[in-house]
Amino acid sequence: MTDLPVAVIGAGPQGLAAAAHLLERGLTPLVLEQGSEPAAAVAEWGHVRLFSAWPELIDKAAARLLEPTGWEAPAKGYPTGAQWRERYLVPLADALGDHIRYSATVTGVSRKGRDRLVDAGRAEQPFVLHVTAADGTEERLEARAVIDASGTWRRPNPAGADGLPALGERAAHAAGALGYAVPDRANPAAYAGRHTVVIGAGDSAFNAVNELTAIAKDNPGTRITWAIRRAVSTNTFGGGEADELPERGALGVRARKAVNDGSVELVTGFRTERVDGATVTAEDGRSIEADQVVVLTGYRPDLGFLSEMRLDLDPTLEAPRNIAVQIDPNLHSCGSVSATGAKDLAQPEPDLYLVGMKSYGRAPTFLAMTGYEQVRSVVAELAGDHDAAARVELELPDTGVCGGAGVFDDPESTTSGGCCGTPAPSEEIFTISRTPITLS
Ligand SMILES: Cc1cc2nc3c(=O)[nH]c(=O)nc-3n(C[C@H](O)[C@H](O)[C@H](O)COP(=O)(O)OP(=O)(O)OC[C@H]3O[C@@H](n4cnc5c(N)ncnc54)[C@H](O)[C@@H]3O)c2cc1C
Repeated sequence: MTDLPVAVIGAGPQGLAAAAHLLERGLTPLVLEQGSEPAAAVAEWGHVRLFSAWPELIDKAAARLLEPTGWEAPAKGYPTGAQWRERYLVPLADALGDHIRYSATVTGVSRKGRDRLVDAGRAEQPFVLHVTAADGTEERLEARAVIDASGTWRRPNPAGADGLPALGERAAHAAGALGYAVPDRANPAAYAGRHTVVIGAGDSAFNAVNELTAIAKDNPGTRITWAIRRAVSTNTFGGGEADELPERGALGVRARKAVNDGSVELVTGFRTERVDGATVTAEDGRSIEADQVVVLTGYRPDLGFLSEMRLDLDPTLEAPRNIAVQIDPNLHSCGSVSATGAKDLAQPEPDLYLVGMKSYGRAPTFLAMTGYEQVRSVVAELAGDHDAAARVELELPDTGVCGGAGVFDDPESTTSGGCCGTPAPSEEIFTISRTPITLS
């Protein structure tokens, strides 16, 4: 098997970094990317400005691969997704050359001649990847190990509060009345002079509220309603000044300001049940009549093509079990998360690793630097350097979000207990609507 490549699924920031580490360790990467270009997912949110600064967005092995080509690492500032691609990810993909295959969608991963049930000789058999090209041609590729860096971008969570599409959600999406992308102030047509409802409560929802607020400033008659499942608590607007990534903290602070100055109407305790055109209705009967619905409720991993693999995932988050304990929003945390490596990511299926955004399953707090540390450790393990694999070379910045204790999504709860301090004074927010309403 040592002649076979290590298959890397996805040429996003993490798959590309994994390939750079593999080359540095003398292993052969074969990166399979479903899109026709590198970092195809990042390309789709290219207008969004990252809250991480340039040095936090560049993998060290990737930089070592790029430096001899004359590439210079951008030293400061916060790129947009498009700039991240243009100034780092695309040059990195160019440097990896033929090690990447585009328009190659992985539809299945198995062990040669062994389905999931078969124990005999399992670990000695190569992996077989089922790959489909853009024209539908099928192929089988063998690999000695598999690093799944396929992200979660193509599996957005639905608006439905029960985790399934709300009644009418698919039809609204097909009709163009409901979408899953952060609005772009440079393309205001769908929102200018119209009423948009944003559903969701994380960083992407903050971004959406901030983009729409910018559009509203230039376009009279633009209305924004923001519907969240929770009550307003210490955590609703992120970690603010307590966030060790200042631009991440600032996203929520800006969104809170938009609520406080009346630019945005915040509706709390809203559990979406139905969508009819662009009218969304909650379980308790409240309706918001809008022209456009923007759903930003997080993402989930695609585990379908791993159905023949033996996985040990957390039943709640769908993340490798040892990682989930760090990031489960139901568990109490004081804002700190540890770095994770090969040991945490290892699966019952030897030499298979889920890394990057996908390794966080449904949890929303993944950072590129978390993934770069993961791929460093995983590749060291695959290369037999167990000491380097076990070493932790990263300390993650605190989120400033004190969460969990099992009540993170309780609409009645305004505190999270433990180290979380006192709840935000709710009178600060004066446009919250909790009584049954019809907004039009
Ligand atoms: C809007 C937004 C802003 C973010 N901002 C930050 C930030 O400021 N700082 C930070 O640290 N992190 C940020 N993140 C989180 C994270 O760093 C990024 O999502 C990052 O792109 C994750 O990298 P990835 O390689 O794991 O996944 P992706 O970027 O999603 O790449 C996965 C790749 O796999 C491909 N793929 C998927 N399925 C298959 C398949 N079956 N076969 C073949 N190829 C496949 C996809 O086409 C894609 O190119 C942000 C995320 C989003 C969505």
